[in-house]
Amino acid sequence: MVKAVVGANWGDEGKGKITDMLAKQADIIVRFQGGANAGHTIVNDYGKFALHTLPSGVFYSHTTSVIGNGVALDIPRLFKEIKSITDRNVPMPKILVSNRAQIVMPYHVLFDQYEEERLGGKSFGSTKSGIAPFYSDKYAKIGFQVSELFDDELLKEKVVRVAEQKNVILEHLYHKPLIDTDELLNTLHEYRDMVAPYVCDVSLFLDKALKEGKTVLLEGQLGTLKDPDHGIYPMVTSSSTLAAYGAIGAGVPPYEIKQIITVCKAYSSAVGAGAFVSEIFGDEADELRRRGGDGGEFGATTGRPRRMGWFDCVASKYGCRLQGTTDVAFTVLDVLGYLDEIPVCTGYEINGEVTTEFPVTSLLEKAKPVLTKLPGWKCDIRGIKKYEELPENCRKYIEFIEGQIGYPITMVSNGPGRDDIIYRESSLNK
Ligand code: GDP
Repeated sequence: MVKAVVGANWGDEGKGKITDMLAKQADIIVRFQGGANAGHTIVNDYGKFALHTLPSGVFYSHTTSVIGNGVALDIPRLFKEIKSITDRNVPMPKILVSNRAQIVMPYHVLFDQYEEERLGGKSFGSTKSGIAPFYSDKYAKIGFQVSELFDDELLKEKVVRVAEQKNVILEHLYHKPLIDTDELLNTLHEYRDMVAPYVCDVSLFLDKALKEGKTVLLEGQLGTLKDPDHGIYPMVTSSSTLAAYGAIGAGVPPYEIKQIITVCKAYSSAVGAGAFVSEIFGDEADELRRRGGDGGEFGATTGRPRRMGWFDCVASKYGCRLQGTTDVAFTVLDVLGYLDEIPVCTGYEINGEVTTEFPVTSLLEKAKPVLTKLPGWKCDIRGIKKYEELPENCRKYIEFIEGQIGYPITMVSNGPGRDDIIYRESSLNK
């Protein structure tokens, strides 16, 4: 069976921890979209790790980690990341790379930087990993598939053809050095040699695995609100962050996805520009940022301070709906133990009217948060294993949010570690 672990919001909800935890009972973990632009932080027996391209199952010896066709594959970064974990005594994971995955080219990373420079203050807040230029080229049909690395004739012709087009932009728009086709071809030969031992017909591999009754986890990056279609366009990422896309980005039938675990953090955070209705500022935000996550809310890839806000029921209800949520994993709840009262955003006021439905971006920009304050529990809930043992106000917080979003919270995460999890029966499941 196939399960997906995806985010309801702007990313950084704690998907890495939940995937790492669920990977214990899985055979195969697949990254199906995105690239090395965002990171998952994982704390386990080997230490604390930030993963960018590798699936969050690489810490188990019984799992196979797969880079699906939907991923933006940065080959040197993938190998740097493998080395960064094996250098810290993690056994070499079993890795497969889809022969249909496309490659982040050195010029994609440069184009990302040049475009941010050109836009100056009007930039999208890109992480400059080449993701937007990569996906643009993929859909303009001038991307390079892993399989193409093994066809020398094709590669030579295509490098010359693509460089011709890119060089016009480099020269006239960005005024930067041009692509040297011999150098690029050499780089691609190096990439070919690096990736060759791992290349696989992934959809066929997964088809066989599913027929053998194996469990496959699809691991999403970012969250619903960063989806190019359903998110806060244009402040979105360039590949779909939805569980539905997992079928495409891994190459499995959509009906095989039986469980969709949508990760929601107990408060909000976001990186990059874009409307963020429940955002807070000043000392209130600084304190939550400092206490948040595991060692503060700073980007796993970029180190950038994350924007902070209260839990947003409107965005999360929408985020869960678009994912097709069967289970909500509610994370980082332990962090809120310091607050006397916890505000929760239960509605948006737009042009004088209150709504609980998430609007399109132009209206979102006008939305003001409607806040409800819930009493805090004022204690440390880490280490608690049973739902009934959580303080009453803490359970009330969970149940209030569950009622607002309308999807069952079946897992509550009360610490960054693998075992910091409380399973719960939800009345919404009955
Ligand atoms: P992802 O991109 O969705 O995987 O999220 P990130 O890894 O960027 O951010 C989640 C952060 O919260 C990481 O630092 C995790 O170690 C941490 N984390 C996850 N779950 C919990 C939790 O329940 N409690 C605490 N305190 N930290 C958590």
